[in-house]
Amino acid sequence: MNFEKHFEASKEIAPELVRYRIVAQRTDSEHPGAVRLTNYAYGRSVEEVLTKVRKVLDKPGGLYGDAGLYRVVEVVEESPDSGVRQRERADLMRLEALVRESVLPRTHPHTTARRRVLEALGEAGGLCTARTRDADGDVIVCTLEAGHYDVDDRPPFKDGKPGGWHKADGVIWSDSGGACVPHGAL
Ligand SMILES: [Zn+2]
Repeated sequence: MNFEKHFEASKEIAPELVRYRIVAQRTDSEHPGAVRLTNYAYGRSVEEVLTKVRKVLDKPGGLYGDAGLYRVVEVVEESPDSGVRQRERADLMRLEALVRESVLPRTHPHTTARRRVLEALGEAGGLCTARTRDADGDVIVCTLEAGHYDVDDRPPFKDGKPGGWHKADGVIWSDSGGACVPHGAL
């Protein structure tokens, strides 16, 4: 048998308040009351709602008080919008799956498009972080794997001197350029 009591249920609830379910267990099996009592209260924290509920029930002779008939065994956050949050999380996971399964395969390795998709998925950590600015002043970030940099690397154009080269789409650059943030630096 369960007995439910709603505190403040009819009052206007401030949106930042979270609804908590407080379950109290009967301590005395001889007591004819319900085995478990479920109370609801709104507050900003577990401590706050417990204080609130105890104010009502913890007084001498009260259910949680001297009589000691009930003992709180569980306080569970039961936000009225937890269902909304769950749906949002599910939507986000579906979106992530879509990006992973159909957008990512359509980008070519070592392109800015691939890097952007990996960044959206939070998986760009394995990429080089060197960056420079193109002729328009826009920042371009290297699209090669982290650690690819090799000072003995020769660029793929005629007369290019070794010195390590980063690459993003059609642009390649060396760490020695003025506008460059070298590999390894953030
Ligand atoms: Zn690089």
